Amino acid sequence: MFKGILIEKDDAGYRAELKEIDEAVLYDGDVTIRVAYSTLNYKDALAITGKGPVVRRFPMIPGIDLVGTVEHSDNAAYKVGDTVVHTGWGVGEVHPGGLAEKARLKGEWLVPLPSAFSPTQAMAIGTAGFTAMLCVMALERHGVTPEKGDILVTGAAGGVGSVAVSLLTKLGYTVVGVSGRPEEADYIKSLGASEVLDRAEFSSPAKPIAKERWAGAIDVVGSHTLANVCSTMKYRGVVAACGLAGGMDFPSSVAPFILRGVTLAGIDSVMCPRVERLEAWQRLARDLDATKLEMLSHEIGLTEAMQVAGELLEGKVRGRVLVDIS
Ligand code: NDP
Repeated sequence: MFKGILIEKDDAGYRAELKEIDEAVLYDGDVTIRVAYSTLNYKDALAITGKGPVVRRFPMIPGIDLVGTVEHSDNAAYKVGDTVVHTGWGVGEVHPGGLAEKARLKGEWLVPLPSAFSPTQAMAIGTAGFTAMLCVMALERHGVTPEKGDILVTGAAGGVGSVAVSLLTKLGYTVVGVSGRPEEADYIKSLGASEVLDRAEFSSPAKPIAKERWAGAIDVVGSHTLANVCSTMKYRGVVAACGLAGGMDFPSSVAPFILRGVTLAGIDSVMCPRVERLEAWQRLARDLDATKLEMLSHEIGLTEAMQVAGELLEGKVRGRVLVDIS
């Protein structure tokens, strides 16, 4: 038996509880890990609260990220005592995840802890930070450079947004953040944003095309926000779209794409191929200011995770949340 959060769904309804879990709940995998830290991402909060259809197999342990020590391995790439990091691959959705003392995962999903990071730093990055890096890499792949103009980051006080602002700043970009929380403007500026705009500016239905403002954008919000971002892109600007914090819809038109040659790059961290995964972690080691990681993350215990999940969905949480499993 081991301690963790277990999500169950039966005649009594959908519920998440902190409890003693039987090892039989862990599914197939060739590496068993003693989990040290997990995190709370938006998707984990949806899973824990049941407010989004994230969990597709029950019972489920949530937690798409984890860092821990290998306890048992039938995979030649890992041995007992190795420190490993996991993000994505449907863990916490269809395979038991990191918000528990023990996890059993496939070795091919794991990456060795990058030498540049401590276990807590790796989790301060986690899926949100990894996704921010994939967004930056997509902007670069489509030709965005600091000389081309300002980069917009929506949901800038959240997990993906905070890391995106920090990364882009270190890479020499001028970053403009968008936030619905005026009280977080100083925080977003401390990560490197030159300016913070009110979320309301992007929340109304978008015109097909509007004044050109951004050379690149990273959007975590979707819906009208993404539509407004697209219509205000500069000629040949690039938008990396990764989130739906404001809605799954995309009420836009083709105008930005056919009149301004705007590129909309979709970002998925879950099934991201291993080669790109390793490249993103290498880039994070090089391009993320480690001192910013401390500013943008805070630690909670497993007992607080369910309450904080609710707060995260209400947009009350700043940056990244690390969950100490010990
Ligand atoms: P957070 O909750 O940490 O951040 C989301 C931020 O979005 C909030 O802090 C808030 O920022 C803003 N926001 C929230 N609600 C609204 C709203 N109704 N309208 C406008 N802005 C809003 O979540 P994460 O950073 O972990 O994730 C952000 C999004 O990215 C989520 O939708 C998540 O599912 C998605 N995601 C996708 C991944 C992928 O692989 N594609 C991987 C990781 C995340 P502020 O207060 O500054 O306005």
